[in-house]
Amino acid sequence: MANSFDVIILGGGPAGYVGAIRSAQLGMSTALIEKEKLGGVCVNIGCIPTKALLHSAYIASLLREAKEFGVDAGAVKTDYGVAMQRSRKVSDQNSKGVEYLMKKNKVTVVKGTGVLQPGRKVKVGNDVYEAKKAVLIATGSRVKGLPQIGLEINKTTVISSDEALFLEKAPASMAIIGAGAVGMEFANIFHAFGTTVTLIEALPRILPLEDVEVQKAGYRRDRRREGEEGHAGEGQGHLGGRGGRRDAEGRGRDGADGRGSRGEHGEYRPGRMRRAGDRPRLH
Ligand SMILES: Cc1cc2nc3c(=O)[nH]c(=O)nc-3n(C[C@H](O)[C@H](O)[C@H](O)COP(=O)(O)OP(=O)(O)OC[C@H]3O[C@@H](n4cnc5c(N)ncnc54)[C@H](O)[C@@H]3O)c2cc1C
Repeated sequence: MANSFDVIILGGGPAGYVGAIRSAQLGMSTALIEKEKLGGVCVNIGCIPTKALLHSAYIASLLREAKEFGVDAGAVKTDYGVAMQRSRKVSDQNSKGVEYLMKKNKVTVVKGTGVLQPGRKVKVGNDVYEAKKAVLIATGSRVKGLPQIGLEINKTTVISSDEALFLEKAPASMAIIGAGAVGMEFANIFHAFGTTVTLIEALPRILPLEDVEVQKAGYRRDRRREGEEGHAGEGQGHLGGRGGRRDAEGRGRDGADGRGSRGEHGEYRPGRMRRAGDRPRLH
């Protein structure tokens, strides 16, 4: 049967493609089903493009401080659109790299959305693929909203990291909800590109999942910056909108009042959730 494999993997992100390589290395015929681009969130809208943008941000910051080091680089002009386009190229190159790895390891890549069927079968369009040994589900996650505080992503004034990575221009101001690794990265990036960033965190400290030394280093760094505010506190985050803008409110445990913090964009990054809607269901 042409559509029969030892192992079928659903999802071509880091979990899926690495699993596919290992499965093939162990001598099993392997198929990888991916509905978007190979590499998943990490390569296309996660780790890789954010690191490319962070590198641009780092260069901008270095140049601004260059005079201190005896190098006069003149007035520093930044263009987020150019940095964004570069980050897209880096992501595409990496996705092609994953494609190459699939060929090299003789993994069959099937483009499309997989739907689980009874008996270790997966349907993609009109084709049915059967796994002799196992179906591995590696469908990852997607951004989740904050409906409990009235926040829906409208992709214009309220955006998630997915949209932030494709902005053509750095907004004049931005409120970022969530000071975990990703929120901090975006604060760093947009600050370097001239955006006034307000960072709002519900827990008492920024980078709440990291060691206290890392949190302290983050605070020290942030305080050196101009144009970046941070409010860590009790989770009273609320976004309201007026005239196409978003107003963020939050009161910090230390008494800092973030009320009225405004952003042209309110980027909210309160975490991710398992892909529930598009999770492959058993039919
Ligand atoms: C902005 C951002 C920055 C990040 N930075 C880092 C970082 O610096 N370091 C780090 O370690 N992690 C980082 N992460 C987290 C990292 O991206 C994830 O941990 C990682 O992508 C998870 O891999 P995964 O394979 O489980 O899922 P995903 O990468 O989500 O891959 C799942 C894949 O499955 C596909 N899929 C879903 N359903 C189906 C279906 N039914 N049929 C076919 N295909 C399907 C999706 O299209 C997707 O390609 C970051 C995340 C974000 C959002």
